[in-house]
Amino acid sequence: MLEEMTSLERCLATIRLQPHDRVPVDLHNFMMTIADLTLPPAKLYQDGQLLGAAQLAAWKRFGHDMLLVENGTAALAEACGCEVSYLPGSAPVIAHHLLADLSEVSSLKKPDPSNSPLCKAVLEAARFVLDRLGDRVFVMGRADQGPFSLACMIAGAESLMMEMASGESDEQVFELLEYTSDCFITYAKLFKEMGCHGTSAGEAQGSPDVISPKMYEKYCLPYARKIVRALESDDFFVSYHICGDTTRIIERMVSTGASILEFDYKCNKLVVKKAAAGTTTLLGPIDPSGVLHQGSVEDVETACREAIEALAPGGGFILGPGCALPSTTPARNIDMLVQCAKTYGKY
Ligand SMILES: [Zn+2]
Repeated sequence: MLEEMTSLERCLATIRLQPHDRVPVDLHNFMMTIADLTLPPAKLYQDGQLLGAAQLAAWKRFGHDMLLVENGTAALAEACGCEVSYLPGSAPVIAHHLLADLSEVSSLKKPDPSNSPLCKAVLEAARFVLDRLGDRVFVMGRADQGPFSLACMIAGAESLMMEMASGESDEQVFELLEYTSDCFITYAKLFKEMGCHGTSAGEAQGSPDVISPKMYEKYCLPYARKIVRALESDDFFVSYHICGDTTRIIERMVSTGASILEFDYKCNKLVVKKAAAGTTTLLGPIDPSGVLHQGSVEDVETACREAIEALAPGGGFILGPGCALPSTTPARNIDMLVQCAKTYGKY
């Protein structure tokens, strides 16, 4: 058995597929960290110092190895020009899409995330935790909405998917996806430059629950590869997040070259493990709602033990929720999640 590592050493060794002492654990917990704050939502999500302090407080409470810094899924879309709505009890959402018609795609302006309220807040929050924990804990500054999901926000998911189904506007669809890839790269580079250890591209809209694997291959995969190529280095890693049952596209997700794949509880663990083994680190797959939010401590223990047994052998596994945790997730269940990595995840 190896000597005990720091959280950062443990995460880096896991992602680099090198020997490590035990399975690391992450929390996808930003809604939880701010659950007790009663500020108006617009103020709350735009306050980087506050979001950073909330992440730090959660780390002090739970002692997880990897911090996911974010403020929802609307930040980059806002920087691209989408209007944001702030509803009580919810992360910011896009009020309506930006393009009335795909033919307007060439009018889109390059975003300036450093001067856009939600992106600026995530950058400040990441800086806040990096300054305090960056030498000990893995800090992921989530640039979030990957190229395809961002394109859905800008053009409207329904109309974009109708264009994709017809195939008649492919030139404009590809132009939009090139644009959103470049937006993602611009934002993610700011996290890289400040010293974050990684970033994340969320592609909920690319899930087989939403589009077919064939559509995924045509409209998502090339752009995922593009952002990974532009961003990954020896000390900066891209985490690629797709919700739902991604078993059918897992091999294609591995082929993006992303160092980390976030996957959820609906996936077939054995298929996913086989596809990723020796190439990519898996992060997940505990059900954030059914198990971590609503389940008992025993349910959490069972799910974590089964996940570790299936996914930890040979390394390349980070235990955590498969998607974002609801704000009222009980602390006792998070304690059990973290404890399971220590109890069952030793190498
Ligand atoms: Zn998700």
